[in-house]
Amino acid sequence: MTATKEPTFRESVDLMFNRAVALMDLPPGMEEKIRVCNATYTVRFGVRLRGQMQTFVGYRSVHSEHMEPVKGGIRYALEVNQDEVEALAALMTYKCALVEAPFGGSKGGLCVDPREWDEHELERITRRFAYELAKRDLIHPSQNVPAPDMGTGEREMAWIADQYRRMNTTDINARACVTGKPVNAGGIQGRTEATGRGVQYALREFFRHPDDIAAAGLSGSLDGKRVIVQGLGNVGYHAAKFLSDEDGCKITAVIERDGGLYDPDGLDVEDLRNWIAKHGGVDGYPSGKYIADGAKYLEQECDILIPAALEGVINMDNADRIQAPLIIEAANGPVTAGADEILRNKGTVIIPDMYANAGGVTVSYFEWVKNLSHIRFGRMGRRQEEARHELIVRELEKLDDHLGDAWTMSPGFKQKYLRGADELELVRSGLDDTMRTAYQSMREVWHGREDCRDLRTAAYLVSIEKVASSYRALGL
Ligand code: GLU
Repeated sequence: MTATKEPTFRESVDLMFNRAVALMDLPPGMEEKIRVCNATYTVRFGVRLRGQMQTFVGYRSVHSEHMEPVKGGIRYALEVNQDEVEALAALMTYKCALVEAPFGGSKGGLCVDPREWDEHELERITRRFAYELAKRDLIHPSQNVPAPDMGTGEREMAWIADQYRRMNTTDINARACVTGKPVNAGGIQGRTEATGRGVQYALREFFRHPDDIAAAGLSGSLDGKRVIVQGLGNVGYHAAKFLSDEDGCKITAVIERDGGLYDPDGLDVEDLRNWIAKHGGVDGYPSGKYIADGAKYLEQECDILIPAALEGVINMDNADRIQAPLIIEAANGPVTAGADEILRNKGTVIIPDMYANAGGVTVSYFEWVKNLSHIRFGRMGRRQEEARHELIVRELEKLDDHLGDAWTMSPGFKQKYLRGADELELVRSGLDDTMRTAYQSMREVWHGREDCRDLRTAAYLVSIEKVASSYRALGL
């Protein structure tokens, strides 16, 4: 594949998919069946706000239903469009397959700038969008389960869950219609931090393999590594915070909407995040060198580059100038197919999005299981421990029957579940397990196959094979 013109996001995902599929031996028709998006629903609805009718455009795309429910976030941004939600839905299919979360892929989006509206206005917009989707089973505990994405968070998920509950008052599983809810509204501990935490676990796993470290031209451990982060939103903030607080990394640059900051001695992530919350951007922050064209700092020398904002930020225009030897895609699609080729030829190692940011959907899976099982996930208190143990063993057996092959927790995870570990401990260890196992499955292909020279192709090979085998099991 040689891209001469920058492909769209959707085309980028397809080009990457095609690269992998060319190395596979899929039966005729299967390749297309997996690649294409099954359906994309577009809705235009009006909400009376500020004395006049405002029209909003929203999407929910279902990429693959080889497993149900289908899963994926809902994004709020003015630029949301069909090409984008379809690309994101496709990535959800591959992401879920790679980490063995038993879901098909979906994604939604609403063309709205959440900063333009007050909280009560956003609530009305969200409830109306949720109503439109739920009416068509595009929000449903066993059909389609949304989650947070760019521009949305637990507040929006709480509104969506409540809207669904009002429309389905007799559905005992109503809470499982959406994940990423607040903990006191059926959510799970550790979901908010999960994607950033997953990025940290992915890097820790990468740095356990001397061959992989050497492939990126790096050496040693995470300690002291210079890290550049683009986007200090939920994902970038948590990744940067955990890597600097717990692994000794130095965050040498942060790129935000209004510009970038560079400080070779390392920026204080918490302090900077508070500054951004107060001042709306990084400009004026007392330490580091500020530039208005923040994207320039993507090209700064560092050890690890973490694009954690938008798609397409590393493209055919700047790929040549990217100096980082290791890129971990915390965002979805931050490297275009054209840039991917340029970087591969330079020897840059890229830990691909479908793996790197899978922490979010992994913990969403735990939340969904928790909601469906109707039991607490974690310790209940000493005196109840024994009764609880028995109860959980019984519930787990039921769950095992219910989920069948979809139950993919490792034995270590089940053990912790049985022991009654604290919910957050349980979530983090389950996430760590998942990130380690998935990395190893990619790594085996990366190092084991002559014709696979990069982690992204390896990730696609592993996940496409899993989707294909689900289709085979369905008799397709
Ligand atoms: N929006 C997140 C993603 O892109 C999370 C999806 C989910 O939890 O379902 O992976």
